[in-house]
Amino acid sequence: MKRTDVVIVGAGSAGCVTARRCAELGLRTLLLDRKPSESVGDKVCGDEVSRTHFEATGIDFPSGEEVSSVVAGADVYPPNMINELKVRGWKDFDGWTVNRIKFGQRLLEEAMRAGVQFKPNIHVGGPTFRGEKVTGVTYKDRSTGEKSSVSSKIVVDASGFSSVIRKKIESPLVEVEIDKRDIALCYREILELRMPLAEPEVARVFLGGKYAPQGYGWIFPKGKQQVNAGVGISGGQGRGSPKALFMNFKEDYPLLFRSKVIAAGGGAVPVRRPVWSLVGNGVAFVGDAALMVNPIHGGGIGAGMRAGIILGEVAKEAIARKNTSAKGLWHFNTRFLSNFGRRLASLEIFKRLLADVSDDDMDYGFEKRILEAGDLMAANKGDGFQMSAFNKMKRVKRAAGKLGLLRSIQRATSLMKKIDKEYAQYPSGPDGLELWKTKVQNIIDSAVFKKIG
Ligand SMILES: Cc1cc2nc3c(=O)[nH]c(=O)nc-3n(C[C@H](O)[C@H](O)[C@H](O)COP(=O)(O)OP(=O)(O)OC[C@H]3O[C@@H](n4cnc5c(N)ncnc54)[C@H](O)[C@@H]3O)c2cc1C
Repeated sequence: MKRTDVVIVGAGSAGCVTARRCAELGLRTLLLDRKPSESVGDKVCGDEVSRTHFEATGIDFPSGEEVSSVVAGADVYPPNMINELKVRGWKDFDGWTVNRIKFGQRLLEEAMRAGVQFKPNIHVGGPTFRGEKVTGVTYKDRSTGEKSSVSSKIVVDASGFSSVIRKKIESPLVEVEIDKRDIALCYREILELRMPLAEPEVARVFLGGKYAPQGYGWIFPKGKQQVNAGVGISGGQGRGSPKALFMNFKEDYPLLFRSKVIAAGGGAVPVRRPVWSLVGNGVAFVGDAALMVNPIHGGGIGAGMRAGIILGEVAKEAIARKNTSAKGLWHFNTRFLSNFGRRLASLEIFKRLLADVSDDDMDYGFEKRILEAGDLMAANKGDGFQMSAFNKMKRVKRAAGKLGLLRSIQRATSLMKKIDKEYAQYPSGPDGLELWKTKVQNIIDSAVFKKIG
């Protein structure tokens, strides 16, 4: 196929869902992945995905062999590993851990059933251009060694963290460099435990501390006697390797004692707000390639699926109007960033707060319940922390020794609200982007909470 409507690079969850929606709407859609067909979906991941993403997109819930475990709650631990918050009935976290390959294969099958042409073993080298407009991609067929190109009205970069298209575009609209501190380097293992899990539906999350300095660790259930466990830490700060940190954790944490490794691997995930603009001329970015990930826990499967549905619809509109310039595709920005995207952006402030609070202060905050489970839920929704005057008074009492900490939480709340407001007013066209970016960047830059105490 030498010319088509949409070329999508990458058949991960974001790429498959985007492709499916494009094809459902009658667009000629070509999906390319460097992997062989049977490996599509394979990915080093925590494997947890919330039910809410399926409800929001209409994509069928995982079922049968796709499901490793049902997840119904999380215990969130501070650095000293005591006084954990037991989060239950949190719709945004409850869901499943999935068998990544089986889940990925299903998304691919659904795309192909809708009419998507899928080509495996295709390594995409980068975009082709006419002037500033992206007009297609160059690629190498890994099974024959043949190099070729394909042209399209729209190119979608769904290549995940590698962002093979986005990184090769020179345009004031397109962000290329991502700060290393906004990337979490992760290591995870799937482990067979020596004893069954006491609470096989509860996920555990560990904040900071010696096992995950300025990061997080996790143990997610993968069946009665298996878990997906790992550590993710911010890059570029010389805090050691996530693998070494995880090995220490595994040695010390009784549940993991002498467990058998079923699979192991490292990966990277962006942990900041999405890129400023999800589109350029003739091109759009979705999933990890657009940094659509929850900055607190690195979950990105759901965000990419939500965005994929929107992008398919915007692609159809733009092609029907014969305008696939950045302006013609802009609706993707306004539909995603001013809705789900603003949640991700406001959580970046929360992430910065967590990174700046010392381990001692975080332990204190958990012990005195300065933040409660409901706060975490509200924050995760992008609502900041809701404190009534009465509530505030109660917390001031509990935080008597650490008023600085409470003040920082309040300041984070106010910044989250500011970000939320800015995203609700995302510019209606490319012309307004620079001014808007400056306002948001100023808010992000002011989210420094050092020397709390
Ligand atoms: C350790 C770890 C734990 C995580 N835990 C969770 C979790 O529990 N829950 C959650 O929701 N998210 C989690 N995430 C994040 C989640 O995995 C990603 O957000 C999600 O998989 C992104 O989907 P995607 O489709 O954008 O990209 P990907 O799934 O990365 O897919 C990209 C696809 O593009 C293909 N590709 C790349 N380059 C090229 C090229 N040059 N040519 C052709 N094809 C190419 C790849 O082969 C791949 O198939 C975790 C990430 C990591 C690293």
